[in-house]
Amino acid sequence: NKVRIKKPSWLRVKLPIGENYRKVRALVDEHKLHTICESGSCPNMGECWGEGTATFMILGNICTRSCGFCAVQTGKPDAIDEFEPGKVAHSIKTMQIKHAVITSVDRDDLKDGGAGIWVQTVRAVRHQSPRTTMETLIPDFAGKWENLQQIIDVAPEIVSHNLETVRRLTKQVRIQAKYDRSLEVLFRLKKGGMRTKSGIMLGLGETDEEVIEAMQDLRSVGVDIITLGQYLQPTPKHLPIVEFVEPERFQKYEKLGLEMGFRFVESGPLVRSSYHAEKHIFDL
Ligand code: SF4
Ligand code: SF4
Repeated sequence: NKVRIKKPSWLRVKLPIGENYRKVRALVDEHKLHTICESGSCPNMGECWGEGTATFMILGNICTRSCGFCAVQTGKPDAIDEFEPGKVAHSIKTMQIKHAVITSVDRDDLKDGGAGIWVQTVRAVRHQSPRTTMETLIPDFAGKWENLQQIIDVAPEIVSHNLETVRRLTKQVRIQAKYDRSLEVLFRLKKGGMRTKSGIMLGLGETDEEVIEAMQDLRSVGVDIITLGQYLQPTPKHLPIVEFVEPERFQKYEKLGLEMGFRFVESGPLVRSSYHAEKHIFDL
């Protein structure tokens, strides 16, 4: 499918400019940090960076996996940077971020799957910014549950793991992942007492029934917060956009999600899993 469909009006957003944006830019450059905002060519950079918030990506910027929707580079990652947790923590402190979202590439090359750096990062942020809460968007650790346990033990305020798509499309959208394994990650996190969050992208060819089934599956493993957003093709080499889902359909899922018992449902064309993340801190 070489035809690129024109973006509908509801997906056109402001260009990133302004003082806060420049501050975030300067910090990210100075510390050679990686953000998913940039790697994922996120359409909300103007808004989020303008508000002084960003989503940091740890464990380098080369991923061992090659999901069809994702713009992060695939290949053999560089060696672990033992100073990375400190650098990320320093930036969060400098930016005075109240609620930080941190994610990582998948490191299937490492025995601990990167869990060690994850733990150090959470501890470093707590040490430098004791009042800052955190959402950690983690990988599936290839089902090595002892590595997942390290995240549970350090207990970030919110732990998210994205299902990304419906069951039928999982193989095509995230080739090295498994739908049921992701559900098990979320189940184990909940069993470990975490507040959990997950997200799916729409517009990849899923049906209405499949979206509802995925939402029910997430609820059945106790997920508290769900995000639904429009998939945008980062480059022509990535999976094509099958459809631009209308804002009204996103609203329908929001209503449905709340009826199903999710504590928060963030559903709209521009929603990303880290969008408005600060709203999701709540008392359980
Ligand atoms: Fe970054 Fe998330 Fe905001 Fe996008 S929505 S700019 S990824 S913080
Ligand atoms: Fe991108 Fe995550 Fe997939 Fe790696 S595992 S390719 S970072 S979505």
